[in-house]
Amino acid sequence: MRIDLHAHTDASDGHSTPEQLMWDAVAADVQVVAVTDHDTTAAWEAVGEAGMRHGVTVVPGIEVTAREADATVHVLGYLLDPRHPALAAALGTSREARVERARRMVAAMERDGLPVSWAAVTAELRPGATVGRPHLADALVRAGAVADRTEAFAGLLSQSSPYYEPTPRTPDPVEAVRIILAAGGVAVMAHPLAAERGPVVGLDVMERMIDAGLAGLEAHHRDHQPDDVRRLVQLAERRNILVTGASDYHGTGKPNRMGENSTLPEVYDALVRGREARLLGAPPSPRPA
Ligand code: AMP
Ligand code: ZN
Ligand code: FE
Ligand code: FE
Repeated sequence: MRIDLHAHTDASDGHSTPEQLMWDAVAADVQVVAVTDHDTTAAWEAVGEAGMRHGVTVVPGIEVTAREADATVHVLGYLLDPRHPALAAALGTSREARVERARRMVAAMERDGLPVSWAAVTAELRPGATVGRPHLADALVRAGAVADRTEAFAGLLSQSSPYYEPTPRTPDPVEAVRIILAAGGVAVMAHPLAAERGPVVGLDVMERMIDAGLAGLEAHHRDHQPDDVRRLVQLAERRNILVTGASDYHGTGKPNRMGENSTLPEVYDALVRGREARLLGAPPSPRPA
């Protein structure tokens, strides 16, 4: 059984439709896929429905954008209630802030004569999808300014680019964990030490997230070096939380292949059972009747 707990659709910056995502899962021999779009749950219904037809178990999830000082932190939430008021409000704020930030980045690039416009960006975006730098990259690719998203992220859109700005009004990592738990979900920190992308938080921040109820660390991710994985596994063991692995699949938008990293069945079970136990106010082990 292959379990991949981190994948994106075109409801955010993945290139796959819900239907394609399930084809991709079948082709990669992955039986359980979590749909974890950035700051939206808009694809849940369509992915769930496609999963039924393709015989793939779909875990409803999300990747919440958070920020601590100059570090961007992504927190995965699974099996949460998307209508929970605090969650819905936070996600709405983040998505609006993303639009304003993307428009400012586009305007700055346009002023410098780069072949990009807000209309060109929205043409790369499924209506209502969470906008991000990958859509700016797609517009630059279409205009011939860069070859692919990877080239855009290495230059014009990198965190050290003059055009870069962070998304304002996002929660901090501890708040993100609290919001996910309040909505009945289970929280796992995504790619905690992916330093290629930009600054990451220290283990002290991860400890505070664990204090707030973080259930796991996504240690097995292509953006980690072997030493990163070792440090994360050690922290998880010391704090008695789970270690997951996932592809962070974006369809053709990124080189990541579906199922290239995966989560052990017993870890997946522990995530699901831990959530049920918390919702019932009961310890995770079965009690005598
Ligand atoms: P944003 O949230 O708008 O700052 O954009 C960050 C997102 O872009 C990340 O969550 C990744 O999914 C994606 N991304 C980061 N680096 C790359 C890359 N080198 N190639 C393609 N996509 C990337
Ligand atoms: Zn993404
Ligand atoms: Fe991420
Ligand atoms: Fe992701």
